Amino acid sequence: MNWSGRRVLVTGAGKGIGRATAVMLASREARVLALSRSADDLASLKSETACETICADLGAIDQIEAAVKPALPIDLLVNCAGTTTLQSFVDSDLSEFTRVLGVNAVAPMVLSQIVVKDWLARGIKGAIVNVSSDAARRGVVNHTAYCASKAALDAMTRVMAAELGPSGIRVNSVNPTVTLTPMGELAWSDPAKADPVKARIPLGRFLDPDEVAEAILFLLSDGAAMVNGVSLPVDGGLSVS
Ligand code: NAP
Repeated sequence: MNWSGRRVLVTGAGKGIGRATAVMLASREARVLALSRSADDLASLKSETACETICADLGAIDQIEAAVKPALPIDLLVNCAGTTTLQSFVDSDLSEFTRVLGVNAVAPMVLSQIVVKDWLARGIKGAIVNVSSDAARRGVVNHTAYCASKAALDAMTRVMAAELGPSGIRVNSVNPTVTLTPMGELAWSDPAKADPVKARIPLGRFLDPDEVAEAILFLLSDGAAMVNGVSLPVDGGLSVS
């Protein structure tokens, strides 16, 4: 893939998987528009790379259009920003459930609509990668909102692929298992919790953010020209073990 000059919007680019994706794309000469919430993260990203930055809170759904429209036109989109909450099903409260669904599923829908309408108007054959999770297919204890949001994102990915494929627009998701981002390190640093999960992963370890970024770049790239509507496990084989 020749990334040179391709404009790629990456959300959640301040930390973790989104940042690794933005840095990898920038190192391959793509023109990256890095969107995230914390200004400090974006300032440090800007000092390390040639990324342009957009500071916005995707939880504020009605502000997404104003934040993103000035960045158009773009060629490719990565919906990576995500959040979670730890609540059992019976104790899940509506405001937290709605907040998580908002950032993880509604924001990617609204953002993708803005981008896709622009692509359709200009006849651009773009590609979108939604960063989902292995939690989309599993019942992870105390993750009602997160699992529901990622299952919604996978379902939306399939509908987008079916509807937009005839216009040459591809939409896929990646579904990583535990990835050692700042958030992942915090949640999985206790060996008593981590080791039994690692033991179920045939490749025997958690992921590095760059390993998810490589899968995202593949799905964005012309190398995946006939890959459309998949939810790609990036999980060392956990899903088949
Ligand atoms: P992370 O380290 O917490 O980074 C998430 C990034 O998204 C941060 O820069 C964060 O900014 C930004 N973000 C969160 N909410 C936002 C909002 N409302 N508006 C704008 N930006 C927002 O998380 P990660 O582990 O890299 O996760 C990235 C994606 O991968 C998520 O969708 C997550 O569900 C998915 N995933 C992660 C794992 C894992 O084990 N780490 C596994 C499977 C899937 P602030 O820090 O400023 O809030």
